[in-house]
Amino acid sequence: MSDADEYPAMMDMHARCVSILANLWGVQKGEKAVGSATTGSSEAIHLGGLAMKRTWQEKRKAEGKDTSKPNIIMGANAQVALEKFARYFEVEARILPVSAKSNYRLDPDLVRENIDENTIGVFVILGSTYTGHFEPVEEISKVLDEYEEKTGNSIPIHVDAASGGFIAPFTHAKAGGPKWNFELPRVKSINVSGHKFGLVYAGVGWIIWRDEKYLPKHLIFELHYLGGTEESYTLNFSRPGAQIIAQYYNLIHLGFTGYQNIMENALRNARLLSRALESTGWYRCISDIHRKKGDHQFVKGKPQYEGSESSADYNAGLPVVAFCFTDDFKKDYPHVKQVSVQNLLRAKQYIVPNYALPPNEEKTEILRVVVRESLSMDMIDRLVTDICGVTEQLMQSDTFDLAGWQPPPSVEKQHSSRGHLAKDKDKHNQPMTKGIHRSVC
Ligand SMILES: *Cc1c(COP(=O)(O)O)cnc(C)c1O
Repeated sequence: MSDADEYPAMMDMHARCVSILANLWGVQKGEKAVGSATTGSSEAIHLGGLAMKRTWQEKRKAEGKDTSKPNIIMGANAQVALEKFARYFEVEARILPVSAKSNYRLDPDLVRENIDENTIGVFVILGSTYTGHFEPVEEISKVLDEYEEKTGNSIPIHVDAASGGFIAPFTHAKAGGPKWNFELPRVKSINVSGHKFGLVYAGVGWIIWRDEKYLPKHLIFELHYLGGTEESYTLNFSRPGAQIIAQYYNLIHLGFTGYQNIMENALRNARLLSRALESTGWYRCISDIHRKKGDHQFVKGKPQYEGSESSADYNAGLPVVAFCFTDDFKKDYPHVKQVSVQNLLRAKQYIVPNYALPPNEEKTEILRVVVRESLSMDMIDRLVTDICGVTEQLMQSDTFDLAGWQPPPSVEKQHSSRGHLAKDKDKHNQPMTKGIHRSVC
């Protein structure tokens, strides 16, 4: 990926991947989509954000207006890469709380209240890291349409589809009905991680702009190192090309139906796990991909929905199962801490993290399982058995046993929380200036 002259076949594959993704995401006739492979979604998000910042600055400068206070909107569920963009590229991050009311997603009402003439764009996430929920891109787009009608300021959307970019286009559930991609004129750029549901090994992401006019010219470098002319607008120069070949191979080898089968299967397995957990009565799911379309909340005693095998009958989302103890369980076993489930499962080689939801909802802790292609039905069967076994073990333990199972903090943990005051070490919502982030990935 460094010298196009030396690797022309790879540059062709790269161009085809960009074209396939742009078309998969609904690029419109007459538009000339441009894009690039990156090392992951993080680099892609930084480039998407930077393009929005420069576009805003150029417009403001041309109008003779102040360009010193750009801001960007995102939900408190945002992955760390989004906040990193804001801090590294000197844009104020307006991080809006998510709530049970907004289904743990960016809340369109709060977006309306927090945008102004200095807003360079809105990051909308297709597939929240915490719960797998898809954020309401179309609804937010409408809020921005109304704002533009009133004020004349046009605020673009960048969709962070790190996981969802390879799920929504293929599954029958799509994004649940509303639009999320380039079918919405306001969505100017989208990123995805090839190494998540793109099914490539680590080291590849993609950024696509719907048309070349949304990538400011001065961000593009023209290089002539080996004689020919090539354009570059990534943060890295040299990088391995193997992942791009693997991405292209997967796209043409699996094809649309190949990806569709894999993603539908992952969703089916995630539904199986969700139902098994809820039928114990000990757990309820915060993720809702196993509930009937339009039905988002857990209701105690309500029979489980058994729709067809197609994801179209259910809520759209990532194949992620986010779950926690039911109120009944907490009442009956007040001494059992949810984190003990994480720790006992760890001893069985599972990594099922337990963490607090984003600020505002941080009193709710969730355990989370990401169902990937390789998490087969057999393994789900084992996992359910082990979760049940561990939970029963906890139910039968007294407070004294439980204290003994809390592992001492590791050296890595101590290191990672350096900079926190001891009394604040569990706080997730540190102001940006303190340079401390919660980290969920
Ligand atoms: C994983 C993820 C990222 C970061 O992507 P990398 O490919 O790891 O750099 C950003 N946003 C979301 C929503 C993610 O899930």
